[in-house]
Amino acid sequence: MVKYSLRLAYLYPKLLNIYGDSGNVMTLKKRCEWRDIELIVDEIDENDNISENLYDLYFIGGGQDKQQIAAAQALMRQKEQLKTAQENNAVMLAICGGYQLFGKYYQTQNEEKLQGIDLLDVYTIASEERHIGNVTADCLLGGIGSIVGFENHSGLTYIEENSATKPLAKVLTGAGNNGKDATEGAYKKNVFGTYLHGSFLPKNPKFADYMIKTALVRKYFENVELAPLEDEFAKLAHESVLNKKY
Ligand code: GLN
Repeated sequence: MVKYSLRLAYLYPKLLNIYGDSGNVMTLKKRCEWRDIELIVDEIDENDNISENLYDLYFIGGGQDKQQIAAAQALMRQKEQLKTAQENNAVMLAICGGYQLFGKYYQTQNEEKLQGIDLLDVYTIASEERHIGNVTADCLLGGIGSIVGFENHSGLTYIEENSATKPLAKVLTGAGNNGKDATEGAYKKNVFGTYLHGSFLPKNPKFADYMIKTALVRKYFENVELAPLEDEFAKLAHESVLNKKY
């Protein structure tokens, strides 16, 4: 018998899914399943409405500027529901293009300014240069340690000073948010944004488990201990990026 059940909204997979971002959802699902935790995944399309209290977890991937325009409009229509979910401590992960749209705005290269939904106090401005390559960083959330992934973005993201939004990690190698202040990603309450694709969660099993555990504790009000998994390959994938010589 399944003791725990979680539900995840996968936002706009048809628009935003590059560098295998859907692998993040697969990782959450498998790591739940292996522990007899049910994870129901609902794919949300552009014109769907999101029921604000239905979901424990949300995921949104990255994409090209063109797809981001449609995604920005769809997100704007669901802004209030997503804000309420954040207030209620739902767990959300946003990658790259999705991360930019979870912020205040993304100023693209062609003068177009895409309004974000303001879950994170960050803003993004497109630059001439594109940051492409592996990133290693020290996660600033307790108990996770290093995080690794692959970045490819021309947008430079800045976290607003004196805001409730904090950097997710300190960059060791690669650019991260903007290549200048050594920050990577951002978080506010349980909403996490990162530039790391590749996919992110398959290579960062501790982060995946952090999300699952946070969602379970929030839903069931009990101190859930996640059973350890035989996940040698995930650890090897993590280490292979961490130990690359640049
Ligand atoms: N189009 C955005 C940028 O270049 C996001 C790219 C992405 O999601 N990889 O900054």
